[in-house]
Amino acid sequence: MADHCAENFDITFWGTRGTLPVSGAAFARTGGSTNCIEVTCGEHTIIIDAGTGIRELGSKLVANNPDQKIHLFLTHAHYDHVEGIPFFAPFFMNDVKIDITCGKLNGTKDTGALIKNLMKQPYFPVGPEVFSADIEYNTLQEHAEFNISDKISVRTTPMNHPGGATGYRIDFAGKSFACVTDTEHVLGKHDQNILKLIDNVDVFSYDCSLLDKEMDDFQGYGHSTFEEGIRLAKLSNAKSMLASHHMPFRTDDDLEQIERAMKKENEAYKVAREGDKIKL
Ligand SMILES: [Zn+2]
Ligand SMILES: [Zn+2]
Repeated sequence: MADHCAENFDITFWGTRGTLPVSGAAFARTGGSTNCIEVTCGEHTIIIDAGTGIRELGSKLVANNPDQKIHLFLTHAHYDHVEGIPFFAPFFMNDVKIDITCGKLNGTKDTGALIKNLMKQPYFPVGPEVFSADIEYNTLQEHAEFNISDKISVRTTPMNHPGGATGYRIDFAGKSFACVTDTEHVLGKHDQNILKLIDNVDVFSYDCSLLDKEMDDFQGYGHSTFEEGIRLAKLSNAKSMLASHHMPFRTDDDLEQIERAMKKENEAYKVAREGDKIKL
């Protein structure tokens, strides 16, 4: 392995939609696939969430490097974060090792049971026994911290979402990325767990499903706003924030308007779009 790529830390967005995939001219510049982020740390591939965006990522991974180790972290099991699982090509490869990690969620025993319940009749024709990869299931305790290699450390935090959800932070080669979705904030009372998770982070993606002015209509839905993301970014000294988990009704024009408001606060803040790649 050439030295120059040993410490690559790249974040690629394969899906940035929340709730449902969308298609059509009004969404073409942002992309229509649901949540999926590829995090490359040197030779390790970490994937956060398995929304519909994971299908295309799977094809790329199989084409580039058929025998590899993949770490799939799930924030939770709502459809928009797991509906791509049965269509992820590496699951059907013999020489691939995949570990699937998720926090403990209401309504399921562990991560293995979660996948079994996702793939069963009458919702899906076959179960996960059709996968040929070597799969290991991990179920996290709240606030779990673990290492993937001696250079990659992962920290997690529970978030405020119906049924539970987990935020992840990955530190590698002196840089850091955090994924904070899905979570609801309480106005005027910042989530201390999230502030700790994103403390001094280089980049974090944040649940920007809503606008502050929409929060009254969406109490209890478990989502947050780009305005709260900016407040958290400033309080935690995060260098950059990416707005993600866009609602199905949010058009490209709406998101460009949101991005202009974000950039007024800090030129580094932006809307996450499908295909965006950030090198840390
Ligand atoms: Zn979601
Ligand atoms: Zn959710």
